[in-house]
Amino acid sequence: MSRILMIGAGGVATVAAFKIVQNADVFTELMIASRRKEKCDALVKSIHDKGYKMDIKTAQVDADDVEQLKALFNDFKPELAVNLALPYQDLTIMDACLACGVNYLDTANYEPKDEAHFEYSWQWAYKEKFEKAGLTAILGCGFDPGVSGIYTAYAAKHHFDEIQYLDIVDCNAGNHHKAFATNFNPEINIREITQKGLYYKDGEWIETEPLAVHQDITYPNIGPRDSYLMHHEELESLVKNYPTIKQARFWMTFGQQYLNYLDVIQNLGMSRIDEIEYEAPLADGSGKTARVKIVPLQFLKAVLPNPQDLGANYEGETSIGCRIRGLKDGKEHTYYIYNNCKHQEAYQETGMQGVSYTTGVPAMIGAMMFCKGLWRKPGVWNVEEFDPDPFMEQLNKQGLPWHEEFDGDLEL
Ligand code: NDP
Repeated sequence: MSRILMIGAGGVATVAAFKIVQNADVFTELMIASRRKEKCDALVKSIHDKGYKMDIKTAQVDADDVEQLKALFNDFKPELAVNLALPYQDLTIMDACLACGVNYLDTANYEPKDEAHFEYSWQWAYKEKFEKAGLTAILGCGFDPGVSGIYTAYAAKHHFDEIQYLDIVDCNAGNHHKAFATNFNPEINIREITQKGLYYKDGEWIETEPLAVHQDITYPNIGPRDSYLMHHEELESLVKNYPTIKQARFWMTFGQQYLNYLDVIQNLGMSRIDEIEYEAPLADGSGKTARVKIVPLQFLKAVLPNPQDLGANYEGETSIGCRIRGLKDGKEHTYYIYNNCKHQEAYQETGMQGVSYTTGVPAMIGAMMFCKGLWRKPGVWNVEEFDPDPFMEQLNKQGLPWHEEFDGDLEL
């Protein structure tokens, strides 16, 4: 028996919930809790409308509030909390897990709301507490981070004695037919993309201006796409866990139109994350105004398309993988492992587009690894610190099959 509490009811959570009910032999009880209970109820209805029968509980919770989380945990008594809310809530949920004896899994590392900065140190600092409590915390179990780390672990286990060069390449060659939209939470997405680039070389971190370094990379079934060097959180854990790595980089594709919009958004000040004061008319129709504080990026999120609504018209596919160079039996080899995911197929199955799908499926598989006792060890771990093999087997079964190319031209 496994009792799962999923927090969040957005795009990624929707896919994970569909996948959980498809694996009812592993997951016997599920509760979905989020800031708005009606969103959880709508998600359960969409699952039942597709013919799945699992009885799913729902609840309202503000995951910024540890006391509310504790009350919910003590009531439902989950074995595992799957955090599919936002990175801001990672630490409060981990605190509640420790207080109530609940294991933990997430897909994105902690970010403070008032600083567009992400790193693992905040969550790694919980390692000893989770160890002492005999609880497992699995960090970053989406696609990237997530499958990118598992691919690397698989390459290290089966194909290399020494990984020396790692490039994670992430292409979204989809078209949602909107002038501008982000594929996951707009606030988190724009914060990530507008940060300075960062990569690892010979023991040092090298910073670049945002999106300043780019080159064409050829993606399977897609062709060449302009790909931009960005900082991405899994680089931090991968270079720590694979100390033979000499260089680690992360690349993501962006279309020119997307970048033009992003430029305008930044120049208008709409990507700011500090509070500004604004004289706003009251919504009661009285004609009176009040001085309010707004965060421009949060306001922008409210007017941008909801990533959850992009699926119906989304064409094309994503292609995400790892390009690795290293040594096996004293000889240099290259290895490319990747998955391509079609937006329309993801939509037909779950009502969500491919980016939510490629994140929600691995989150479910991580939960499955925990429930089956395969990924269970007290402490706080990144995904590459577990055995990749059973996870890789499930990727093929659960809709994200992978492909390998040996000793080809990595282009990088
Ligand atoms: P959404 O914005 O669609 O969903 C987030 C959900 O969390 C919403 O239901 C939201 O509620 C809820 N939520 C927000 N704040 C709180 C709170 N304080 N208490 C309770 N619930 C809250 O985001 P996505 O589904 O697109 O992304 C989910 C997570 O996945 C993010 O952390 C994102 O960074 C991560 N991600 C990871 C990827 C990877 O490959 N590793 C790729 C893509 C995303 P409401 O609906 O009311 O706003």
